[in-house]
Amino acid sequence: MAASEHVSPDSVATLESRNPATGEVIGSLPIHSRADVDARVNRAHQAAAQWGALTFAERRDQIDRFRRALAEQADELADLIHRENGKSRFEALIEVVLALNHLTHAAARAEKALAPKRVSPGLLAHHRTVVSYHPLGVIGVIGPWNYPIFTPIGSISSALAAGNAVVFKPSELTSLVGQAIVDIAAETLEVPDLVQIVTGYGETGAALAGSAVNKISFTGSTATGRKVMAAAAERLTPVLLELGGKDAMIVAADADVERAAESAVFGAFTNAGQTCISIERAYVAESVYDHFIERVAEHTRALRVASDSDIGPMTRPEQVELIQAHIRDAVERGARVLCGGPDQVKGGFITPTVLVDVKEDMRVMSEETFGPVLPIVKVRDANEGVRRANNSVYGLGSAVFGSAGVRELADGLRAGMTAINTVLAYAAVPTLPFGGVGDSGFGRIHGDEGLREFSRVKATTEERFGLPKALNLMSFGQSSDAYDNVRRLVRQLYGGGAADRVTSLLGKLRR
Ligand code: NDP
Repeated sequence: MAASEHVSPDSVATLESRNPATGEVIGSLPIHSRADVDARVNRAHQAAAQWGALTFAERRDQIDRFRRALAEQADELADLIHRENGKSRFEALIEVVLALNHLTHAAARAEKALAPKRVSPGLLAHHRTVVSYHPLGVIGVIGPWNYPIFTPIGSISSALAAGNAVVFKPSELTSLVGQAIVDIAAETLEVPDLVQIVTGYGETGAALAGSAVNKISFTGSTATGRKVMAAAAERLTPVLLELGGKDAMIVAADADVERAAESAVFGAFTNAGQTCISIERAYVAESVYDHFIERVAEHTRALRVASDSDIGPMTRPEQVELIQAHIRDAVERGARVLCGGPDQVKGGFITPTVLVDVKEDMRVMSEETFGPVLPIVKVRDANEGVRRANNSVYGLGSAVFGSAGVRELADGLRAGMTAINTVLAYAAVPTLPFGGVGDSGFGRIHGDEGLREFSRVKATTEERFGLPKALNLMSFGQSSDAYDNVRRLVRQLYGGGAADRVTSLLGKLRR
């Protein structure tokens, strides 16, 4: 892969990308200035005009070609993700597969999801009323380092399928993967500059957020999300924010405990806990608590901590300190360490840590840890678990394990997504919208909602035939009794008495 050889003529300074397991520099890329960003956004507007004028079928053919080329380079991509982000080659390959799945779905689905829809004209019965969807233009995609292909492709796939051009700012930590994606896009998509990259640090991201893009799709921390929204406010650029989380898992008394324990370990420790939707808290009904923590401990102790195994290094070296601080704070305030612990750290590698006897006011229970730490709380029953889970500023994903009434428990969780008797699975389903509430952000990627997120919604009403002046509300020059006529109409349509009787009769007939 040629990503490390890229040097832009318009920038002098470069950023170095390192392998987090070894510290070795694996490539460098330019640091793009505000002027570089603006130049790319300008070119993207030209690309958007060409791309947006194509039919859905024409766009689908090109996106499919892009997807096939990514699939053919899946090994090289998985290897690059492994070296730049630190996750195992297997986890990296799964990430590539999920990204390809989203590309396939968005390309195939866009024509249906974005087809114009006839809607009821209501009082204006002589009208033809339609809702239609049109490309927005240029989408600025700002991505994180934890899923360097899956996360940006979640936005890029829908943005392209809906007829937009993209300018993509990858995280400084995984810019080589970003460059590889954009290189493959440039080789396969016929419209020049349709998917471009800008690389650099936060300033480059801020320049993109404040540029003349038509929407920003940001995935990252809540703190940076606030800055992005503030920068975008200057031009009233709409934003979609996919932010952090503190996802809870509830285990009811009638849950399959073995399944719940195995899933909790996967949900908490996959990608070394550096997953926005990882399980960061578990609330377990008291009758199954002892069994659950015993099974969680056993599964956790079996995990291998090493490069290219179960638990890789932290991608961001600074994260290690924060994770240790969360564990220390909990231990100092009475939590018991079941596995791992604050000192089980070697370089960037952290031994997965399970904590019990934790309290809600410990940092590990309220702040995003973003590392391999699972605090477990004993609760009277699943309903108490749901109440406690909802007491958080975040609301991204969630999970619930149980049998009777488990769907009602799921409905009670204040989160953008809930998995029942499994974890994280919603992210792998391209028809399901993905996103959060509260400090976890707003807007949706994936699914029909994701395709519409990158579209301009337009309302059109067309008068099919003219009405006599007395009945036409869209003109001046009404007769002198017009007021009385409308007042009568209001009573008949919306008032009590006869109108209520007609409405109730219609309701009964419909039932
Ligand atoms: P950051 O918020 O630090 O960075 C995200 C992106 O924003 C990076 O590309 C970063 O560039 C860029 N950036 C930094 N400062 C600015 C700025 N002022 N204006 C515009 N862009 C800026 O997040 P992380 O990369 O550390 O990712 C981890 C976070 O992302 C976690 O909180 C996690 O929960 C969340 N996340 C959420 C997901 C979701 O779908 N909800 C999915 C994945 C992660 P640079 O790296 O160069 O500083």
